[in-house]
Amino acid sequence: MSVNEIISRHLFYPVHERLRGRSTLGQWRRLRKNDRLDMAQFEALRLDKLRRLLAHCRESVPYYQQVLQDIGLDDVRDFQLADLEKLPMLDRDVLRTQGEDVQARGYQHKLIPYSTGGSTGEPLVFYTDKHRESCLNAQKLRARSWFGVHPGDRQVDFWGSPIEMNRQNRIRQLKDRWLLNQVVLSASHLTEQRIAGYVKFLHQFRPRLIYGYPTVIYRVASYITSHPGVLGSYRPRLIVCTSEMLLPHLREEIIRAFACPVANEYGSRDGGMIAYECPQGSLHILGEQVIVEVDKPDNDGVGDLLITNLDGYGMPFIRYRIGDRGALDTTSCACGLPLPRLRELQGRANDFLVGRNGRLVHSSTANYVLRGIPALKQYQLRQRRDHSFDLYLIPSRALTETEKKTISDGLNNILDEIVPVNFHVTDSIAPEKSGKYRWVISEARA
Ligand SMILES: [Zn+2]
Repeated sequence: MSVNEIISRHLFYPVHERLRGRSTLGQWRRLRKNDRLDMAQFEALRLDKLRRLLAHCRESVPYYQQVLQDIGLDDVRDFQLADLEKLPMLDRDVLRTQGEDVQARGYQHKLIPYSTGGSTGEPLVFYTDKHRESCLNAQKLRARSWFGVHPGDRQVDFWGSPIEMNRQNRIRQLKDRWLLNQVVLSASHLTEQRIAGYVKFLHQFRPRLIYGYPTVIYRVASYITSHPGVLGSYRPRLIVCTSEMLLPHLREEIIRAFACPVANEYGSRDGGMIAYECPQGSLHILGEQVIVEVDKPDNDGVGDLLITNLDGYGMPFIRYRIGDRGALDTTSCACGLPLPRLRELQGRANDFLVGRNGRLVHSSTANYVLRGIPALKQYQLRQRRDHSFDLYLIPSRALTETEKKTISDGLNNILDEIVPVNFHVTDSIAPEKSGKYRWVISEARA
């Protein structure tokens, strides 16, 4: 470890978090101790946190005062995890209609507003608070520690749209770079030339951690594999992918280029930090922060995920419908962590294609068809309301008729329905405003 990293970890990072009113490092140390608990101790700990949250709700949150009265809960000490299902589910409509009644009284001055977009409907403004943000940051640090990456280690983030470079942002960038060892590289407008510059920077700066959207890291990885030796002896210790689905062919290419572990992070602004992949490849639920339930599971155990955030006191989220689908895994993991696991995570409902008789088909199935065509460098598949497809593609050469037929047949096959597939060759496919890239988008509704 460099002198710079030692100073950052023990001096600048703690001071930075303190000045921002966050107790991240204290939380991180506590979480690392929890990693050594057995499952029974861990369950007791989260039940205790749930009871404390409910006591707070009964004391200070008008909406939940009514809810808890309605289910006749007299003493939160009697509350068990299984009792959660007696509480109503929370969705965006409830948050909108209840207004200030879902916020804790006496917390107004501590609330931090966040607005979340989404491809459908109007944006929702919700509130987090400093305690919840500290807990979220601490969970990230904790999971990275499983791979030997610690606070203060050099880090590069591939992130979002370029922030306007005013004076304040420039100062922040210098602070992050020289005091915290963190550098953000813009994930938008990725040209070959810009990627070459990024790779050169990685080679010089030698971050232990690379963090960002998998599609962006994948493009950097592809550049590296087609320019062997460009990284010299440099290898990161860990790459963390976030916000988008980490498709298998992306993971494979990233591992090929960087020769280091790749972990998937699953969280959202409204739900919090939900799950993180361990070195054994299991997606562990960060159980001190969230309780995850599955609503109306199908035969495979897959259903809508409901999130209870145990650290959010300013605006409690209890049984919140996050919009993703997935399944729980009740077996334990070889890594020995006491944290529960997600067996499957299927992404947002509008990532699903709609087939015959309204059958939902997960978008990864379409990716499976398309990745069988090596000439497709990049693509975006859009399913229209009438179930037909528009495939926007950047090919390395013109597709043959046989390849087009393979794609059409493959897509018709997974929908179990005959629909037109229209091919559009293009020079670039823009990511969403956030810089996030989506491979498959469906406008069809079941
Ligand atoms: Zn594990």
